[in-house]
Parts: sequence; structure tokens; C-alpha cells
Amino acid sequence: MWPRHRNENFMNSQDNCIFCKIVAGQIPSRKVYEDDDMMAFHDIHPKAPVHFLLIPKSHVDSLAECGPAEGEVLARMMLRVPELARVAGCGNGFRTVINTGPDGGQEVYHLHLHVLGGPRNQWKVPLP
Ligand code: AMP
Ligand code: ZN
Repeated sequence: MWPRHRNENFMNSQDNCIFCKIVAGQIPSRKVYEDDDMMAFHDIHPKAPVHFLLIPKSHVDSLAECGPAEGEVLARMMLRVPELARVAGCGNGFRTVINTGPDGGQEVYHLHLHVLGGPRNQWKVPLP
């Protein structure tokens, strides 16, 4: 899906995926959480006092490419979010965002879930 967009940016191909490189430790990140299936790390350009990304370790381009094979890890990711958000300091609530495809504003084509929190008057616009 989204062939034109993906071909324009080699960093978004699976073989040269920036988030796969973070998973492999080839690119540094500020890790928030890791287990066998998923990893969370702080967004490099935070839009809120708390802004981290949660990704499956196994590469999938976007939510639109997910099928039954991804169902389990997606569920596990969603269920892990509240705990990670709370530990990161989102005691007063948080926002979860998944951008999908060009019109969804997706820039990195490795599925990721944004978690944003902290005092609302300190959030930046535009949001992810
Ligand atoms: P999206 O528009 O949903 O694809 O968001 C991609 C997000 O990845 C943006 O918020 C970027 O700031 C973030 N990002 C890009 N490169 C890195 C990186 N090396 N480490 C952490 N976050 C990154
Ligand atoms: Zn990847």
C-alpha cells in the first residue's frame, strides 16, 4: 500500500527502516520499555511533556497492512499502554495516536503508536 509515497523515501523501506534499526540497537534511542514483541522509546521531537512511541519489533509498514497475524501483538501493545503512560508520568490522562498512510500524516513506515501526556497547556501544535 502507498507505493508512491514509500518509494520516494528509501528510509521507509523495510530493509532500511529507522525503527527496525532502533530495535536492532543500530540507532540510539531513549528506551521506555522492551519485551519480546514490542519496544517503546521517547519521540525525538516530542509534542508534549511525555511523548513516546510504542512499536512492534517485527516490521509491518502501517496499521493498514496488519492482518490476523498482527492481532496478538496489537492487543498486547494496547494493553501495555496505560501502564507505560502512568510510569512515564501521565497520571492525569494521555492520548494515543496511530497515523496511517499519506493522508494520515504517517512519516515513518514502521507501525507505531504515539503516547502523549503531561499538562495540556504544554503540548505543541500541530500534534502528531
Ligand atoms: P508519524 O508521523 O506518525 O510517522 O511519526 C513519526 C514520529 O517518529 C515523529 O513524531 C518523529 O519525531 C519520530 N521519530 C523519527 N525518527 C525518530 C528517532 N530516530 N527516534 C525517535 N523518534 C523518531
Ligand atoms: Zn521497521
